[in-house]
Amino acid sequence: MIGTLDPKISPGPLAQKWRNHRDHSRLVSPNNRRKFEVIVVGSGLAGGSAAATLGELGYRVKCFCFQDSARRAHSIAAQGGINAAKYYQNDGESVYRLFHDTIKGGDFRAREANVYRLAEISNNIIDQCVAQGVPFAREYVGLLANRSFGGAQVSRTFYARGQTGQQLLLGCYQALCRQIAAGTVRMFPQTEMLDLVIVDGQAKGIITRSLRTGKIERQPADAVVLATGGYGNVFYLSTNARGCNVTATYRAYKRGALFANPSFTQIHPTCIPVSGEHQSKLTLMSESLRNDGRVWVPKRKEDRDRPPGEIPEQDRDYYLERKYPSYGNLAPRDIASRAAKEVCDEGRGVGPGGRGVYLDFADAIKRLGENTIRERYGNLFEVYEKITGENAYKVPMRIYPAVHYTMGGLWVDYDLMSNVPGLFVIGEANFSDHGANRLGASALMQGLADGYFILPNTLPNYLASQMGKRPSPDAAEFRDTEKDVRARIEKLLNVNGTRSLDSFHRELGLLLWDKCGMSRHEKGLREGRTRAQ
Ligand SMILES: Cc1cc2nc3c(=O)[nH]c(=O)nc-3n(C[C@H](O)[C@H](O)[C@H](O)COP(=O)(O)OP(=O)(O)OC[C@H]3O[C@@H](n4cnc5c(N)ncnc54)[C@H](O)[C@@H]3O)c2cc1C
Repeated sequence: MIGTLDPKISPGPLAQKWRNHRDHSRLVSPNNRRKFEVIVVGSGLAGGSAAATLGELGYRVKCFCFQDSARRAHSIAAQGGINAAKYYQNDGESVYRLFHDTIKGGDFRAREANVYRLAEISNNIIDQCVAQGVPFAREYVGLLANRSFGGAQVSRTFYARGQTGQQLLLGCYQALCRQIAAGTVRMFPQTEMLDLVIVDGQAKGIITRSLRTGKIERQPADAVVLATGGYGNVFYLSTNARGCNVTATYRAYKRGALFANPSFTQIHPTCIPVSGEHQSKLTLMSESLRNDGRVWVPKRKEDRDRPPGEIPEQDRDYYLERKYPSYGNLAPRDIASRAAKEVCDEGRGVGPGGRGVYLDFADAIKRLGENTIRERYGNLFEVYEKITGENAYKVPMRIYPAVHYTMGGLWVDYDLMSNVPGLFVIGEANFSDHGANRLGASALMQGLADGYFILPNTLPNYLASQMGKRPSPDAAEFRDTEKDVRARIEKLLNVNGTRSLDSFHRELGLLLWDKCGMSRHEKGLREGRTRAQ
């Protein structure tokens, strides 16, 4: 194994660890920063914020993404919001409570020191984004508005209608463009990382291919940062864009970086149900909708095909409110997902194939008026209508759980460095610090905490010992890795098979969902493994 699995958490009480760590980390002086070249793969919220901040500090940054523009990274899809412990609502919120909820939400598997740091930094993120002009929703008096997300009993989620990711990414993209104009960041759009180059046991560069010209290039650096997102598409159907293909972290894994918690996948309870075999992607309906929507199915199987408006109140089962009265419709994501599966397994699911439950806004519309609901969620209702042809102001939405987010990823220490020295991993690509298996709005918080605030403080701790050690692109390690890449491409192009790549992906993904999805047991896991082999 390369390197060690020492998390390198600084000593002292939880609330002082991050300060202690920064006080004792090595620094790179301003005059020396321009002597270091840092590769950032990914320009989503994690990579974009890291590249912009490192550029601002004076490092020379090369930032890669496979989209045609940095601002089209998958972070743009995030809808519902971002958590922070600002305590605007006078409802008992605190840094400790955000930390506690997140640890609990993560089934106590997250590293406490990292999560405490995340909760502390959450407030800086909101300030930074407001300063960039991100148009968060506001109350009439001018304070930023908050809403609730599943698994929390306070309102700590900041949002910009149902487009929070897009607005945050635009703020981040402006900061990135400023550095591109200043010459500190060089952007490489439509360029895919195909391998990691290791020199003397340290990550010292990558091999890329231009998606426009096919040109393969060697890119040396003093350190490599992967901000390449999650692996939800391994299940074929997920809410992730089709482009999210895990090449970067998988190649790093093949070069010795260890993966942690790969089975830890978040299944989101509110997605538009699968409607047929033609589908290659599923669409999320933001969790924020559960603030005002009530989840139900008919009490009796026989009512499954009746129009919902004809099913009287006494024949409806508001099963989340019944089973989990203290959280009601805002029960944590895993609990809400399993509960939906249970009622569908009982034969009470609605819509095609009986794999759906209702999310009903009738009560909220009666109480608040259609306009208020439109203001809060208008664009989500539009997306729903475009996909299903149904008007959710008039009939309840139909929803079902789907793969949404991956908590597993490359193992990192407190500095966000993998076991391969010089290889840093941030955002969804690392094995997350947070509790997103149950809590929403933590992923944006983590990506931006990593990129704007943590990596800029921890990267120098490594770089300080690397002055003058950047290899030449002609080094043997670069030549050999490029040769491996070319051989792999050649092999794939010469398969001459009769099935498309996509058909294999579909078959394996659906097998994984079936045997290793929302509920898992030994027999199913063994069957799945045998069939995959
Ligand atoms: C529909 C949807 C809604 C969501 N809503 C919320 C929400 O409301 N709140 C919340 O907190 N979270 C939400 N999430 C989760 C959150 O959006 C993501 O976890 C987060 O944005 C991931 O950011 P990232 O920067 O780590 O990765 P991404 O935004 O996925 O960016 C990955 C980057 O890596 C690049 N890349 C990948 N592989 C390569 C390669 N081999 N070579 C070159 N470049 C590469 C891509 O081009 C891209 O630039 C949502 C997710 C989805 C799918």
